[in-house]
Amino acid sequence: MCGGGNAALCAAIEARRAGATVILLERGPQHMRGGNTRHTRDIRLAHDAPNAAADGAYGEDEFYADLLRVTGGETNDVLARLTIRESATLADWMARQGVRWQKPLTGTLSLARTNGFFLGGGKHLVNTYYDTAQRLGVEVRYGATVRAFELDGDRVASVIYERFDREHRVACGAAVIAAGGFEADVDWLREYWGDAADRFTIRGTPYNTGVALKALYDAGAKRVGDPRGLHSVAVDARAPRFDGGIVTRIDSIPFGIVVNAAGERFYDEGEDLWPKRYAIWGKLIADQPGQAAYAIFDAKAAGRFIPSAFRPLSAASIGELARQLDLDANVLTATVERFNASISAGGEVRMDRLDGRSTSGLMPPKSNWAQRIDSAPYYAYPLRPGVTFTYLGVEVDADARVSTSEGGGFENVFAAGECMAGNILTRGYLAGLGLTIGATFGRIAGVGAAQYARA
Ligand SMILES: Cc1cc2nc3c(=O)[nH]c(=O)nc-3n(C[C@H](O)[C@H](O)[C@H](O)COP(=O)(O)OP(=O)(O)OC[C@H]3O[C@@H](n4cnc5c(N)ncnc54)[C@H](O)[C@@H]3O)c2cc1C
Repeated sequence: MCGGGNAALCAAIEARRAGATVILLERGPQHMRGGNTRHTRDIRLAHDAPNAAADGAYGEDEFYADLLRVTGGETNDVLARLTIRESATLADWMARQGVRWQKPLTGTLSLARTNGFFLGGGKHLVNTYYDTAQRLGVEVRYGATVRAFELDGDRVASVIYERFDREHRVACGAAVIAAGGFEADVDWLREYWGDAADRFTIRGTPYNTGVALKALYDAGAKRVGDPRGLHSVAVDARAPRFDGGIVTRIDSIPFGIVVNAAGERFYDEGEDLWPKRYAIWGKLIADQPGQAAYAIFDAKAAGRFIPSAFRPLSAASIGELARQLDLDANVLTATVERFNASISAGGEVRMDRLDGRSTSGLMPPKSNWAQRIDSAPYYAYPLRPGVTFTYLGVEVDADARVSTSEGGGFENVFAAGECMAGNILTRGYLAGLGLTIGATFGRIAGVGAAQYARA
């Protein structure tokens, strides 16, 4: 197994249960194990009736329709349907590995019916899977960076990895690659994003630099996914460059306005419900000058959204707020005045639905929740694009077997998780789908690799 997050652990557990000897090579040290999975909280699950993880029913057809909506219909139908079908078995499977479910969520995230939240979040999920895997006899080698695959025709014969500055070779009957995307390699991102990449914040692990993905390409694996494709959200510009996780995300956007470094608005902050729109804001900010933006709101909005790890800047006037943000005070004041003048209705906005309270005559408009910014103190968050993961990966079939660029596939190389999610998720995102794809293909890859190795 190459990798140590959700996909690799699901694969390791299933491979071991299918009777294989399993070595898991995790690049991170033990205290950083688990990749981006450490930061997760929930997984998307189809179900016909309420269960321990989720409320109501979320049928396979509805799940599929949601996927088609976010990908614009571009998905590998066979793999997408397989993922959705398998997701219906995951709540029980995860519980059998020791995962415990939170009560279905209440509040503004609107995910109680579609997503299960595991108790203790991603760290606990990772710890539970490692405990189970090791109890079953999986050998874990931390600090092991997989760098190359040695081939014998269309078979991988051995894996080359680096550990404690020494190169090692391990012979294998089969290999599962589950080493995430390449979002933490800023040089690689720069190939598609230019210098803008230097101002991206990477929300997850610094270890997902795509080293194993490159090794797969070198071995002849077929690429899939848009190399420029990123899942990215608005994060606080004061967040650490890597691994800030969930708490650096800024959710104030629909409650106010967002301006760029010139002090001008550039997109409809009230286009749709926030769970359906938060994931476009990283890209929107990436396209602004200097990859910088500022979320502005007033006292009426304070405390109404999920707080982040950072306190907003605050001031008694918009001009003073602008000076703290290093923006032109006259321009920002004029932007806020224009925004306020375009709103006729007063009173509280309703955030639990599209309330249709829009600006009039303003470009770009704010289509819902338009409320004047007129109550001191005024607040602001400085924003940057926060990259969650990349979409580029390798093509796989329904057995999780990696395709070769020559046509056909490797006999004994399997992939799972973020490094193959681009087969299904070509763009856009559905909350919790990353883990669903990883668990589905991790389990399939683990069983397939074990069967091949033992044959
Ligand atoms: C802040 C944040 C919150 C998120 N929240 C959710 C959520 O709630 N639900 C959801 O479904 N998704 C969420 N995601 C996305 C989710 O993290 C991924 O879809 C999922 O965890 C990917 O699992 P994976 O096993 O493919 O990769 P990862 O969990 O990232 O694991 C990759 C592993 O590979 C290792 N590795 C990398 N290179 C090598 C190498 N060369 N050799 C050996 N090992 C290597 C890494 O150390 C790491 O252990 C979130 C992501 C972030 C950043």
